[in-house]
Amino acid sequence: MASVGANQKRAGERVAFIAGNWKMNLDHLQAIAFVQKLAWSLKDARHDFSDTEVAVFPPFTDLRSVQTLVSADKLELKYGAQDVSRHLSGAYTGEISAEFLKALDTPYVLVGHSERRQYHRETDDHIADKVAAAVKNGIVPVICVGETAEDLELYGPSAVPVSQLHAALALAGDAKEIVVAYEPVWAIGSGQAATPEQAEQVAEQLRYVIAEVLGGEIADATRILYGGSVKSSNIAGFLRQPNVDGALVGGASLDLAEFASIAQFRKHVGT
Ligand code: PEP
Repeated sequence: MASVGANQKRAGERVAFIAGNWKMNLDHLQAIAFVQKLAWSLKDARHDFSDTEVAVFPPFTDLRSVQTLVSADKLELKYGAQDVSRHLSGAYTGEISAEFLKALDTPYVLVGHSERRQYHRETDDHIADKVAAAVKNGIVPVICVGETAEDLELYGPSAVPVSQLHAALALAGDAKEIVVAYEPVWAIGSGQAATPEQAEQVAEQLRYVIAEVLGGEIADATRILYGGSVKSSNIAGFLRQPNVDGALVGGASLDLAEFASIAQFRKHVGT
């Protein structure tokens, strides 16, 4: 019988994952208020966290406050950082190490978000190092991959995400758990989401890459998220796809009611 990993309800059935990337929004006081209200809202809705995990990814300066709140109030909400240094420690002014994130019990970290690749010139090598730093410290990397509109035209839908994922996993051979977020760059913040079928086509290819590098069991257990203009009105279509296990949500994660509704996607799966 196949073994069942931490993120599987039954073999082959993965726990859904809805993650909110706040980007550079909400200071630590706003973060506390937001997380409290989100927790109440999901509690009122009787949210089943064993069916759908929900996480927020606040700026670094909010993490300690969010950690304190989550642990003091025993919230089932998770949190993660938006980035991590490729270095483990030392003279790297302004950087935050995976060890520091671990000290805040941070379960997840985004790595390779397209805004980091684009505005901070992060290369595949940087991203591989960051994934390795997270894995080494027991933090699950949420590895973001995705093609630009130009890539799509030149190479088709999956070539760039597949190559980015291969590169990101170059030093992560001993990873036990990763999350992958497929985020077409042309869909991020544009209001023009990919279709569920487009997301599924790429997610399936990404799962093959994970199987190739980390083995079939980890590939089966890995949550693959879709990201790019996700809203409560389109989330259900993505989650109906066999290889899409959740969403990385940007803009809509800052609207509490909207994000709570996305997390509650099972309630509008028929819509
Ligand atoms: C993102 O930046 O990760 C993202 C998916 O943004 P949005 O939901 O706003 O398109």
